[in-house]
This record gives sequence, C-alpha cells and structure tokens, in this order.
Amino acid sequence: MISLIVPCYNEQDALPLFYKEVTAVMGKIGWDYELLFINDGSKDHTLPILKELAENDSHVVYLSFSRNFGKEAAMYAGFCNAKGNYVAVMDADMQDPPSLLPQMLEIIENGQYDSVATRRVSRTHEPPVRSWFARKFYRIMNKISDAEIIDGARDFRLMKREMVDAIISMSEYNRFSKGIFGWIGFRTYWLPYENIERVAGETKWSFWKLLRYAISGIISFSEAPLNIASWSGIFMTICSFFILLLIIIRKLCFGDPVAGWASTICIIIFIGGIQLFCLGIMGQYIAKTYMETKQRPHFIVAETNREDITKIK
Ligand code: UDP
Ligand code: MG
Repeated sequence: MISLIVPCYNEQDALPLFYKEVTAVMGKIGWDYELLFINDGSKDHTLPILKELAENDSHVVYLSFSRNFGKEAAMYAGFCNAKGNYVAVMDADMQDPPSLLPQMLEIIENGQYDSVATRRVSRTHEPPVRSWFARKFYRIMNKISDAEIIDGARDFRLMKREMVDAIISMSEYNRFSKGIFGWIGFRTYWLPYENIERVAGETKWSFWKLLRYAISGIISFSEAPLNIASWSGIFMTICSFFILLLIIIRKLCFGDPVAGWASTICIIIFIGGIQLFCLGIMGQYIAKTYMETKQRPHFIVAETNREDITKIK
C-alpha cells in the first residue's frame, strides 16, 4: 500500500484539482493507496471539502488540527498515521506533480534505493530575492551541518517504511524535515524536474516566515553559530592583549597625552556589538532547548474520519 500525506492550509481552490489528478494517477498505478489529508487549521472551506471527498471515496482519510500548527507538524502527523509500505509527502497545490509518482515508484521498486526525492532544477516564477537567499542558505547549510541538503530539494519524496520509522523516532519539537531526511541517511535517488507554479490559491510562506524557518533549520542541525561566538571571543581576547601591549609601550616612550576619545568609543561600541551578537546566538539555542524540554505535543487532532488515529503526539 502507498500512503500519500498531503498537508493542507487554506487550499479550498487547489484541493479538488489535486484530488482529481492524484486519483487518476493512482488508478493507473493500480496499487492500494490512502490519501492522508492533514487540515492544518484552515480558515476557509478546506475541511468541508475534505469531508465530502471522504464520504465518496474510502481512500480518503482526513485529520483536522485544532489550530494551525505549521507544515512540519502536519507532515509529522501524517508520518505517525500512515499505514503504507511506501509513504510520500506532497503539497496540495500541484507544485509536487502527481504525474511523477509512477516513475518514483518504479525506481524504488527496483530495490537500489530506499527513497526517491525530487529537486527543482529551476526557480522560475519565484521572486529573485527569494531564490538568491535560498541558494545561499543551501550552501551555508551544507558547509556547517552534517545533514546533507541538496539545493532545490522539495519535501516531495517517496520513502520505504524503514525510513518513515526513523523519521517518526526523531520526535524533536523544532522540526526541519529537509535536515531530518538528510540526517537519517539511506540511499536516495534525486529526481530533477522543472519548477511549476501553484494551480490555485497563494503561497503560505512570506519571506520572513521562510527566513525564520531557515534560521531555525541551521540552529537545529548545526553548532557552527555557537563556534563562531566562541572563536570571535578568543579572537577579541588576543587582539586586546596586543592593544594593551601597544598602550603600555606608548606610555613608556611618549608619556600619557590625553587623546583618542573617538577611538575609545569606537572600540567600546564594536566590542559591545560582538558581545550582544554572541549572546543572541546563545539565546537562540537556549530558546530552542526551552521548547524541547517542555515536551509539548507537535499537533492536536480535533476531528478525523478514521478511528485508530494518533490524535495527540
Ligand atoms: N501548509 C500547511 N501549513 C502551513 C503552511 C503550509 O500545511 O502553515 C501546506 C500548504 O497547504 C501546501 C504546502 O504546505 O500544501 C506547501 O505550502 P505552499 O505551497 O504555500 O508553499 P510554497 O510551495 O510556496 O513553498
Ligand atoms: Mg507550493
């Protein structure tokens, strides 16, 4: 059986189109399947549409969250409740084309790979500033963390059961799926495709939301920022030692003319800035640790049409 996990947040316009296409594709494949729709606290008619789909089609399972928990929580709920031998995550807006599924299934069935992941080779239809930041993010991330993340990687991938179990076992609160997929390893085949514009509705990710997500991803999978803080501290200490020597020598040779007020202020501000910056980095890690130690649930399911659902985890 194949489980398709579909996080939906205000997707009333895209859902019918997606459902039609994905049912057609799955019909052709001929495998048993379930469509796990996760309604992530939508404020439009997503839930009624899902209920109607579920009434007419036994393949459809819906989980409706008590509020918006974010795409990461929706994916996690999907993984925790998927029953298939193969599991795939896909967006409801058709930016993850269902037509790739047969090819992905074929590759994974050959047995050489544990998962087939997709990556966009182009970023057309995307604001250039966002593309630029995205590229930089992938370069930095790959340098400083041990989770391999391919540029343009989508969350759209088909995985074997073993991989899904590994993902479920990583129950951290601050989830960054691209990092988690990379971190658990396994043999992954990368399937390239051209970027596609969403069919209906609009993107749920503003630039700032993406930036926060990126920073959270770096903090979750790398200690490099902490190292930067330590090293800049050491560097400043060494510098200050030499400056002290310089001042002593100058005093001995030339006496002590009162001068250099401007440079003193500059140095104080500079060092103050570095200190605040490093404190900020530490604060980021402490904040994440704080959230982890609370062990709050990732999601709360308020409504569903299947009985044996993990409702809170
Ligand atoms: N999504 C979600 N919860 C959120 C934001 C987004 O479940 O808080 C879903 C959304 O419905 C879609 C997928 O995540 O199926 C990707 O979102 P979107 O297409 O807006 O992102 P983009 O493709 O623009 O990066
Ligand atoms: Mg999209």
